[in-house]
Amino acid sequence: MTIQTASLGYARMGKRREVKKALESFWRGKLNEATLVQTLQDLEAKDWQTQLQAGIDHIAVGDFTFYDLVLDWAVRLGLIPARFAELSGLTRYFAMARGVDNRPALEMTKWFDSNYHYLVSEIDADAKPQGDFSDFIATVKRAQSSLAARATPVILSPVTLLSLSRCKADFDGLLDALLPLYVELLTELKGLAIAEVQIHEPILVTSRAPQLQAAVEKTYAALAKVGVPLQLVTYFDDLGDTYNWVTALPVAGISLDFTRGDNLQLLQTHGFPADKVLGAGVIDGRNIWQCQPEDTLQRLKEIQAIATTVRVQPSASLQFVPHDAKLEKQLPQPLHGVLSFAEQKLTEIVFLAQTLNGTDTTAQQQQIQQAWQAFIDFNPPNPAVHTALEALQPKNFERSLSYSSRISQQIALPPLPTTTIGSFPQTKEVRRLRVQYKKGELSLAEYQAAMEKQIADCIKLQEDIGLDVLVHGEFERTDMVEYFGRQLSGFAFTTNGWVQSYGSRCVRPPIIYGDVSRSQAMTVREFQFAQSLTEKPVKGMLTAPITILNWSFPRADLSRKEQAFQIALALREEIAELETAGAQIIQVDEPALREGLPLKVQHWNDYLGWAVDAFRLATAIAQPQTQIHTHMCYCEFGDIIQDIERLDADVISIENSRSNNRTLGEVTSAGYSHQIGNGVYDIHSPVVPTQAQLVEQLKAGLEKLPIQQVWINPDCGLKTRRWEEVVPALKNMVAATRKLREEMDAIAK
Ligand code: GLN
Ligand code: ZN
Repeated sequence: MTIQTASLGYARMGKRREVKKALESFWRGKLNEATLVQTLQDLEAKDWQTQLQAGIDHIAVGDFTFYDLVLDWAVRLGLIPARFAELSGLTRYFAMARGVDNRPALEMTKWFDSNYHYLVSEIDADAKPQGDFSDFIATVKRAQSSLAARATPVILSPVTLLSLSRCKADFDGLLDALLPLYVELLTELKGLAIAEVQIHEPILVTSRAPQLQAAVEKTYAALAKVGVPLQLVTYFDDLGDTYNWVTALPVAGISLDFTRGDNLQLLQTHGFPADKVLGAGVIDGRNIWQCQPEDTLQRLKEIQAIATTVRVQPSASLQFVPHDAKLEKQLPQPLHGVLSFAEQKLTEIVFLAQTLNGTDTTAQQQQIQQAWQAFIDFNPPNPAVHTALEALQPKNFERSLSYSSRISQQIALPPLPTTTIGSFPQTKEVRRLRVQYKKGELSLAEYQAAMEKQIADCIKLQEDIGLDVLVHGEFERTDMVEYFGRQLSGFAFTTNGWVQSYGSRCVRPPIIYGDVSRSQAMTVREFQFAQSLTEKPVKGMLTAPITILNWSFPRADLSRKEQAFQIALALREEIAELETAGAQIIQVDEPALREGLPLKVQHWNDYLGWAVDAFRLATAIAQPQTQIHTHMCYCEFGDIIQDIERLDADVISIENSRSNNRTLGEVTSAGYSHQIGNGVYDIHSPVVPTQAQLVEQLKAGLEKLPIQQVWINPDCGLKTRRWEEVVPALKNMVAATRKLREEMDAIAK
């Protein structure tokens, strides 16, 4: 049987970020609604053409979104929180996404273990779902007119949608209310003579899946009755324990991810139903490397040995990779030669299918192998890095004294020391300086002098405000990962490699392509300059290994653990040098630790084992007198508190204001014994907290934690705020702290 190909969704932002530009000009009132809609539909149609021309047989349609796909489905199903009820159309849609007036937006959170953020549906207790699929049907019709039978509508399953929502109503009752709407939709699609519908059900790869068995079985029993062939799509991990019952569901096909987890093993152990199509996700939709044809073909043959009808496809939607590697003109050719963004991945998929179908692709295969060989020649291993990794011993992961023994040797500070998380406002002027320097309009000396002026002003300001522990302000950093990547070997940066982070926001993740090493100091100069201006301690400021790793595209030829350790070794050198330069406090930020957690709880220990080890490897070199801080925002600690403890940081600063002291509660009720920076106000809001509010927040913190353990700080860096907001907020924070100190003194007397 001929092997066919499929896509599960496409890169989202337009090759030149046209989607972002259109949305943002619409929001600024510079583009009217009709033009916005037309612009976005044209871009969507372009992506369809790209997939058609590449030769994809089943092209996902309906995955293109004005903001977020989960929001799209919530709106189509009438899951509208009461505060948006009287709005309508795009006004309501963007209000739910971004907030309007006094109506806060839906909460945003990361889509499984990816860096994409979706909007969490809020379902009121009295929610009355109602279907309106007109926009979706219109999209499908447009797609049919250009793609004919290849147009494959993508819908989000009600089970995944409900599982990811904040649901005040009863799950089963809601599912019962949603299923008729899905039946209605499928019936309409059937009327359009759609050949197949993809139903995305990623929740099936998580630890929650076993509890969802009854709901999933009920859902597919109801949907199967319509009689449209359904392709049940899973990704990001294997089916694990659910394999047998999922493969028995009444669907025409099942898509599995063969780049993560162990679906191949499951297939080999349990077989695959002969009457179902197996969508074989062998091309990694989450990373940017070209496949190794021999390995991938081998894997496909192993899959073919078990499943009767196999399709070649990406492991997930291509929304996680940029559009087109051809746009990258500045990368070294050997690296460029092995990159594969969305467009290249389509070519790979078709080429693999052609090979399996008997086309002689030897020449192409040789070409790819040569490209890989050229890359390997260009990028030989760095023996020093490997020797250092092999020589690691347990003591390299261990501070020389335990927390309780080293604490008395560390810097003495007033009770409730005040500090900030590192960055200060990145004003237009600061950004302009960096751009001018990059363009060569400023010499290095001029740029450094301008940065020093920023640092000096920032130090003076912090002294005036009366903070106890100062920072240099991070003005030289565009981004907490890119800044380090640019100075380490083994990292590359794209010019157009944008992927959607949320809504119109894009990120350009660095590419880790080689062994990571450090050849010069990365932060010492700015630290030293800042410290020379003040008697108060200035914190050294670094980004920790897992955050650097998780916010980059990692290598495919080396484990993530090994890459994290390489980064850790580089940071270790930096920490030693900061100490020599006089740093008494060094902060190593690890905000991405938790989001890297595997989707199945049984894999958490393995990940946390090496992830925490990487932090320890970086920081254990510090002398006992040096105080190591870390910072984590948006992190729930309850279930990973032992791992947080094992980081062995002296101080951890956390978010604690948006969660209303819940985060602190989680940490303290678990008996955390080191110091904690209580993030007393929300830096994501422009609202300046008053002194009285802050006193309350501080007192609430002290109810949960002995005073010796508490630091006072905002809940994250201040770079997105304006000085007019930052200065009064910090003044109030210091004043509130002083007030508490006075009250305590009075009690002591
Ligand atoms: N030190 C960084 C800053 O202040 C931390 C940012 C973060 O936690 N995301 O900006
Ligand atoms: Zn933060």
